Amino acid sequence: MFSTAFSTNLPKTIPSLPQPPLHSFPPIVPSFSLPLSSPKSRHHQGPLRHVIRAIDAAQPFDYESQLHTQYVKSTSLKIAVIGFGNFGQFLAKAFARHHHTLLVHSRSDHSPAVRQQLNAPFFADLNDLCELHPDVVLLSTSILSTESVLKSIPFQRLKRSTLFVDVLSVKEFPRNLFLKYLPQDFDVLCTHPMFGPESAKSSWENLPFMYDKVRIGNDEERIKRVDKFLDVFAKEGCRMVEMSCFDHDKYAAGSQFVTHTMGRVLERFGVESSPINTKGYETLLDLVDNTKGDSFDLYYGLFMYNKNSLEQLQRLEMAFESIKQQLFGQMFRVYRKELFGSAEEEEEEERVRLLSAPKETQNGAPVDSERLEGS
Ligand code: NAP
Repeated sequence: MFSTAFSTNLPKTIPSLPQPPLHSFPPIVPSFSLPLSSPKSRHHQGPLRHVIRAIDAAQPFDYESQLHTQYVKSTSLKIAVIGFGNFGQFLAKAFARHHHTLLVHSRSDHSPAVRQQLNAPFFADLNDLCELHPDVVLLSTSILSTESVLKSIPFQRLKRSTLFVDVLSVKEFPRNLFLKYLPQDFDVLCTHPMFGPESAKSSWENLPFMYDKVRIGNDEERIKRVDKFLDVFAKEGCRMVEMSCFDHDKYAAGSQFVTHTMGRVLERFGVESSPINTKGYETLLDLVDNTKGDSFDLYYGLFMYNKNSLEQLQRLEMAFESIKQQLFGQMFRVYRKELFGSAEEEEEEERVRLLSAPKETQNGAPVDSERLEGS
């Protein structure tokens, strides 16, 4: 049993601990020198010398730390992010959090930000990036530039089984482009994280992540690679929704496009906070905040490249018009009553009376409708 004497009866040196097996690692060579106890010091009779034999922080030569590094490497992907705009940056940070290796390319020079935020390399030339054989090429460029960006990628420099992923806010459009331009051997995953840097700034918990495994090869490696990629979003807590690109566009036009339109209309209208904001009004202010950070290119892309958007815009316009008519109609009825008062009411009563009175024949006798029908 331990006794309290433990603190006072300290051994002068700590007996050496058994070393972990070293089969697969080089010998441990500490990079600093400590006064390790020698036989001489062991018999030293003077005041107790403090000898450091263990440090809490994991050192690069630690067995466990090496195992951890090996595990991370084995589960990590090399992801090329093409398009380092608002959303590309937001996603790249998440991939870095999940220990994936990043390679970045964009139209403009984002190298300082890429180095600073991600400690990753930035490639101005796509040839250089592709020669590093990423496992995944992720397209996060504007919807409008997708086709030209895709055509500028030197596919011949990539691995034959590269996985292409897009995060565009419309889905049938990139799906068709991928199937048109990508070599047959490439895998295709179309996705749409249904949130952005503003709406998901504190957490991704329960936010929908839509994906469609458009073309994934049968072998185990390819299947695992897609799962590893999707895992980033699943582990962040997203609600994973597998859905066809076709269905996505149908639903998104009615929800996302309408949301962006209302956000832009309200922004243009000029909503402002006041000391007596209601909860509903706060929701409108939040909506404007959520949509105003997005580029007009993005909004225009939602309209141009989702065939359902035009119909939604027309329905929105009709709904607005019909609400307006309902309001104006009621208002006109009140005005008319005030202006013409009882004269109009009497006129109306007379009209109703005439309509409901039985019809008369020329000699004044009422018409027997059943007899007339039978004749
Ligand atoms: P965006 O305006 O849609 O796209 C900006 C990105 O496109 C930048 O990386 C920009 O490159 C690049 N780009 C623009 N024009 C280009 C051209 N002509 N050639 C090559 N590259 C060009 O804004 P975003 O918010 O970053 O969105 C990126 C993608 O993510 C879009 O497809 C969008 O639909 C999707 N998405 C966005 C959100 C969101 O909340 N923002 C959410 C889900 C999905 P440079 O920066 O180098 O100029």
